[in-house]
Amino acid sequence: MTATDPVNDCYRPGDGRMALADAVARLKERIDPVTGTETVALAGAAGRILAEPVVSGRTVPPFDNSAVDGYAFATAAQPADGRLRLCEGRAAAGHPFDGQVAEGAALRVLTGARMPDGTDTVAMQEDVHLSDGWVDVPTKLKTGANRRRAGEDVKAGDAILRPGIRLRPQDLAAAASVGVGRLQVRAPLTVAVFSIGDELCEPGGEAGAGQIYDSNRPMLSALLNGAGFVVTDLGILPDDAAVVRRRLGEAAERHHALVTSAGASIGDEDHTVAAVRALGTLHAWQLAIKPGRPIAFGRISDCTFVGLPGNPVAVMVCYVRIVRPMLQRLAGMDWPEPHAFPVPAGFEIDKKPGRREYWRARLALDEAGNLTVAKFPRDGSGLISSLTWADGLIEVAEDTARIERGQPVDFLPFSELGL
Ligand code: AMP
Ligand code: MG
Repeated sequence: MTATDPVNDCYRPGDGRMALADAVARLKERIDPVTGTETVALAGAAGRILAEPVVSGRTVPPFDNSAVDGYAFATAAQPADGRLRLCEGRAAAGHPFDGQVAEGAALRVLTGARMPDGTDTVAMQEDVHLSDGWVDVPTKLKTGANRRRAGEDVKAGDAILRPGIRLRPQDLAAAASVGVGRLQVRAPLTVAVFSIGDELCEPGGEAGAGQIYDSNRPMLSALLNGAGFVVTDLGILPDDAAVVRRRLGEAAERHHALVTSAGASIGDEDHTVAAVRALGTLHAWQLAIKPGRPIAFGRISDCTFVGLPGNPVAVMVCYVRIVRPMLQRLAGMDWPEPHAFPVPAGFEIDKKPGRREYWRARLALDEAGNLTVAKFPRDGSGLISSLTWADGLIEVAEDTARIERGQPVDFLPFSELGL
């Protein structure tokens, strides 16, 4: 497949303004992983994307064992007074008891010890009374109390981890528990980030007349890093067609994806658009969302190009709702679907129907102590202060025209969006 092949051009948009759900469905259906695979030790696997299923070759726990420190016995042979003869010896974790516990007897066991033959139940040491070769255990213990069954966690042959997940610490514990020490994972997705514009300058330096600091690039780099991609910061490129084209061409050869902000508006003077078109393909998508209407997707050879809007809030919204899942899919992950939680609105407001809106939001308690969600009072998509104030976004459906106070709205916590 070539970048200009119109049939396989996965970044062709639909007609006109697209609903977010349509845009997502389109990308989801067309994008496949582009990264290779490699084998890594468990110690280095956190945050990596699993490429092959992990199937257990073993039962976990491998044998019935004691959940507590105490005394093991068989309930069937327990006398009415609960008094059992104390056996000589003990069973500890890693040191099973060789013999057989006779009927009417109990054996000292420690947590994790294999259940001694002849026993099915463990009385906790706190609940027993020891006296000269005898042990009094509670008479009402159910058979199997304080016993962990073989296979209660995992059965041999169970698929315990599926490919496409980003490995969390608990996933490593699961792999380790079945004896797997190395995992097949995806090679990291490499992403280059850059900003373009003579008006942009580096934070930390002096801003000249008419200049603004480049705030999108540090945010985007951190967002991409946090998602587990390997990020190259290409810095700020000047408004110079030849330089932009050369730098993008070079970067495309060495990365799976290029991401920029303010590269989405298709104007004659826009060097990003001209450069990507000269090197490959570029499509402007018009999304029926606010903020973040224009977004551009393209390809330079095998490299995916993403042009986000310029305004920082639009960058964030487009990134979390579209770009992150799309890059994660390229990286070999499942397409993540964030969960929205219904929370009563702590405000009332009219909304223009026809587009999906994302309001910067924060959970709060009202005077009665009930959970409610507050909306940042102003809407500008350049207001970075709204992002630093918020702990999530309210997602408002296209057809909504008004929100009444107390009406449930869809709250997307930043944690659901990978932030
Ligand atoms: P544009 O998409 O180029 O029309 O830019 C839209 C808005 O985003 C303008 O107000 C730009 O100044 C602003 N903007 C563009 N790039 C950046 C950036 N890297 N950091 C902060 N603001 C930016
Ligand atoms: Mg610009």
